[in-house]
Amino acid sequence: MSVSSQEARAGAPAGTTGPELGQVDVLIIGAGFSGLCVARGLRRRGFSFRILERAGDVGGTWRDNTYPGCACDIPSPLYSYSFAQRAGWTRLFPRQPEILDYLRDFARRRRLLEHIRFDTEVTGARWVEATGTWEVTTAAGERHVARAVVSAIGALHVPATPRLPGLDTFAGPTMHSATWDHGLDLRGKRVAVIGTGASAIQFVPRIVDQVEHLSLFQRTPPWIVPKRDVPFTGRQRLLRRLAPCRWYGRARLFWMHESRRKGFTAGPEDAQGDGTAGLAAAERLARSQLRRQVPDPQLRAKLTPDYAIGCKRLLISSDYYPAVSRANATLETAGIREVLPDRIVTEDGAQHPVDVIIFGTGFDTQHGLAAVPVTGRGGLDLARRWVSGMEAYLGTTVSGFPNYFVMMGPNSGLGHNSQIFMIEAQARYAVSCLAAMRRRRVRSVEVRPEVEREYNTWVQRSLDGSVWQAGGCRSWYQHAETGRNTLLWPSSTIEFWRRTHRARLSDYRLG
Ligand code: NAP
Repeated sequence: MSVSSQEARAGAPAGTTGPELGQVDVLIIGAGFSGLCVARGLRRRGFSFRILERAGDVGGTWRDNTYPGCACDIPSPLYSYSFAQRAGWTRLFPRQPEILDYLRDFARRRRLLEHIRFDTEVTGARWVEATGTWEVTTAAGERHVARAVVSAIGALHVPATPRLPGLDTFAGPTMHSATWDHGLDLRGKRVAVIGTGASAIQFVPRIVDQVEHLSLFQRTPPWIVPKRDVPFTGRQRLLRRLAPCRWYGRARLFWMHESRRKGFTAGPEDAQGDGTAGLAAAERLARSQLRRQVPDPQLRAKLTPDYAIGCKRLLISSDYYPAVSRANATLETAGIREVLPDRIVTEDGAQHPVDVIIFGTGFDTQHGLAAVPVTGRGGLDLARRWVSGMEAYLGTTVSGFPNYFVMMGPNSGLGHNSQIFMIEAQARYAVSCLAAMRRRRVRSVEVRPEVEREYNTWVQRSLDGSVWQAGGCRSWYQHAETGRNTLLWPSSTIEFWRRTHRARLSDYRLG
């Protein structure tokens, strides 16, 4: 499967400058959870590969998001690779520094660091038909050539900051949760937080005691169930050093999460059901926490969602409601009309003096996966192809883009279980496609358009009745104009594993 540099140069587009680095079988873009997972799979199967990483460290989203309180809402024994389980997690819900440490440790132990080119921002990837190779260019003017490209950049990395009228006139500092400025002292300041999603509910409790006043601007209240986080005891950590104990704990957590799946995919009616298959139990928990933690009926009413639980990502926290209830915090539910140099004006005419604005407004999830310009067969542009909603086959391959694999691609996200399971399945699938290419001595694999179409029809039909589509909310899972759910996997994780554990070559055109 190796390509010669002569072969690659023959098809290089005119005008390409800069040094060309030695060729590899596979270029991976991004050294986060999924990029490292694919790299480990490639190494085991004897492929040569290189990882191009924009930043100076591994970790992806767990390197970038450092806001106070940043943590995972999936238990640590499950939020790790199955083939690199850690005995020493310090608590049930791991915090950002511990996850980042896990990934750094993994990259070091598996000798992946030597394959990573850090501080290397990819500016484009282009399929060169004449040679059957990909040419990848970087901001530094480098040119990399490989038989295949794995995009492991993820969907949650382009911070979304709303274009509020007058925002550019604001005199104080602003920041987004994903680019937290730790040098900014919030003590004694009047702070506005815009957004009440997964990130905001984690950092609001951490900053509320420092600030003079916190104005929280909420557009839609989230459903929040209690977070039963506990530190692991020394005994638990010791037991987890025994492989059977580690696996038992992991399997138990996996099936606990998997058992919630039906509630999401069966639709909102099921949430009113008996509480075992549906989300009714979660709703009871959420309502009871709200009642207990927010005695003020007016505030409680503002915090009560009016859509089916599970429609937006279900959040977990036990300290968010107490933080919002503090005397120095106010919850604003009127829309934002404009920003003035020292205040925010809401649609009801109220003026909110602020010194700092923090955006907890999430990510541009519909464009993140195509943030790197990718040109496929015949000049096809990936971003344009996905303009009315991203689509891929098994979340991984796209017709018109031979030998191109997307990690955490369209409709491979989960609302109910650990994303690491999906990452491992996808990585295995991509590597099995490449292994099949090598076995069959072909230059390219490209998913057949009819296979991709039929699969996506099934995906959308399966999502139709789900709580994500029929639960009465709009979410970042959906394309803004078409409302199509482009991010979530509509079935069980086992079904995804079944479909991806080995590549079926009849789904592909071999070149
Ligand atoms: P998010 O869940 O998308 O929340 C964004 C918040 O900003 C929502 O409350 C949204 O309101 C609000 N918002 C967006 N645009 C607005 C505007 N123009 N005006 C007013 N409000 C606006 O983003 P996030 O909290 O950063 O989290 C993103 C994702 O990252 C999560 O859902 C999750 O997948 C991941 N994450 C995971 C963890 C974890 O533990 N695994 C932790 C943090 C983050 P609406 O609801 O009305 O749109």
